[in-house]
Amino acid sequence: MQADIVIVGAGSAGCLLANRLSADSRRQVLLIEAGGEDDWIWIKIPVGYLFAIANPRTDWCFKTEPDPGLNGRSIHYARGRVIGGSSSINAMIYMRGQASDYDRWVQATGDDRWGWPEALATYRSMEDYFGGASPWHGVGGEMRVESPRVRWEILDAWRQAAAEQGIAPIEEFNRGDNSGCAYFHVTQRRGIRWSMADAFLHPVRHRPNLKVITKSQVLRLITAPITAETAQQRRYSESAWANAAHEVVGLEILCEGSKQRISVRDQVILSAGAVSSPHLLQASGVGPAAVLSAVGVPIVHDLAGVGENLQDHLQIRTVYQVTNCATVNTLYRNPLTRIGMALQYAFLRSGPMTMPPSTLGAFAKSRPDCATPDLEWHVQPLSLPKFGEPLHRFNAITPSVCNLRPSSRGFIRLTHPDPMASPKIMCNYLSTEEDLQTAVAGLRWTRQIMQSQALASYRPTEILPGSSIQTEADLMNAARDLGTTIFHPVATCAMGRVDSRGQAADPMTVLDTDCRLRGVARLRVVDASAMPTITSGNTNAPVMLIAEQIARRMLAEMA
Ligand SMILES: Cc1cc2nc3c(=O)[nH]c(=O)nc-3n(C[C@H](O)[C@H](O)[C@H](O)COP(=O)(O)OP(=O)(O)OC[C@H]3O[C@@H](n4cnc5c(N)ncnc54)[C@H](O)[C@@H]3O)c2cc1C
Repeated sequence: MQADIVIVGAGSAGCLLANRLSADSRRQVLLIEAGGEDDWIWIKIPVGYLFAIANPRTDWCFKTEPDPGLNGRSIHYARGRVIGGSSSINAMIYMRGQASDYDRWVQATGDDRWGWPEALATYRSMEDYFGGASPWHGVGGEMRVESPRVRWEILDAWRQAAAEQGIAPIEEFNRGDNSGCAYFHVTQRRGIRWSMADAFLHPVRHRPNLKVITKSQVLRLITAPITAETAQQRRYSESAWANAAHEVVGLEILCEGSKQRISVRDQVILSAGAVSSPHLLQASGVGPAAVLSAVGVPIVHDLAGVGENLQDHLQIRTVYQVTNCATVNTLYRNPLTRIGMALQYAFLRSGPMTMPPSTLGAFAKSRPDCATPDLEWHVQPLSLPKFGEPLHRFNAITPSVCNLRPSSRGFIRLTHPDPMASPKIMCNYLSTEEDLQTAVAGLRWTRQIMQSQALASYRPTEILPGSSIQTEADLMNAARDLGTTIFHPVATCAMGRVDSRGQAADPMTVLDTDCRLRGVARLRVVDASAMPTITSGNTNAPVMLIAEQIARRMLAEMA
């Protein structure tokens, strides 16, 4: 098999890239996905999120290393393994992040094109916003963004309670400064999940020059030394590839039990996500020499930052028992209300089955000297011990709070020369004093909100962490006990400043500002791994921004 461009991973970024890069019928594009088709009903019905996570049909089912920051716990690390990738199993929250996130990207890359003005214009161009066009939103784009189709009395009360504590109700997030409290907007169309495959891949799958193969795992990249002749022919003057000694010429995949080789005429784009893209690079001999040598993988290119710099949002899930109101816990347990929810969904496409678990959001500053909000709450009208486990038997809500800009850093490392073996995922959560302090501030603020007048008639009782947990040390320990991922790993192949000789200002830089991999020609990484720093919010929309901007740049280069 041969193609001009091979995209590895039909996830959020991969679906958009396949759409844009196959628009010119003269270019053969091959999209390779390890998982299967996204034709399962629980992918389409939003509440199916609860069944798709931790299910090997749709999830890689990774586990993190036991983490000292979580009191030694190892946690489930969901990543979509299906057409649409994580956008087929995510919570559908549409969140661009804050304008200052993009200032940090400009600073990291030295490239103004990553700034908020261009980001806003790009978001508007990709959107089909339910509220119509405005300076903040666009219509006619592929990404359908809608308002939630369910409201909860208890969450309306939580919003008033947040207002009592200084977090003002706002119309919407996504205008660059997220301070305030609002119902999350979602990537849905008329109550059905609108994954990035629905938005970008399915509408163009008929193109003769786009081939999509599923249930095929890329095992490794095939590289070859660059000779003076090939370098000249291909004009490798672009910064990151200027002094490359190797180039990618193909891939090895495992398809229906047999290994096959694919050759690539132009370039390979890794869009396998923040865990699998660095893992695949390391399995191909591209990564920190010490990591590769430890598992006996021959070194093609020693690149220190591959798999390092892992950033993620840790959510601390508190649970409050409530009375005098409905929550999913009680509605789901009662057979009559359960049938009612199903009928409401079947006939009206509304109600709890349209719900991403987190319905209401809030953003605030943990300290007055924070320039922009560094805390995000996801408030769920339900509670459960863990994802994949049954809901609690009592009536309860889960206000979960996370630090949006953690300073803790983790890594993804190859542990075995066999690329089918899962990588080591070490998040190092709460490994800095700053992150611990932010966690304590978040827990304290959650308590204040729950003790506000607006919630008094629901008589909230703190189940987790529990009212006996009061001292700073106890709250830190509670954060370690209750913290879990909110599924936003990023920055494991970070973009940075690269000069015209291929030298990076920061040795941990993996990609140049156009997502070219430093030191291996004809190879890009375009997915959540490419972020220099994590955005202050949920990460799907920023991944789409990266994919869209890189697609545009590639099309301009190829014109
Ligand atoms: C459970 C969950 C809930 C989330 N909720 C939200 C939310 O509500 N809002 C939000 O903004 N963000 C959310 N996120 C995060 C968001 O979905 C991700 O940041 C985004 O989808 C990442 O996109 P990506 O293209 O980097 O990777 P992915 O979308 O994960 O795509 C990677 C693709 O590559 C494939 N792949 C990997 N390795 C190989 C290989 N070797 N060969 C072939 N194919 C391979 C995978 O199977 C997958 O399809 C959530 C994520 C999860 C997992």
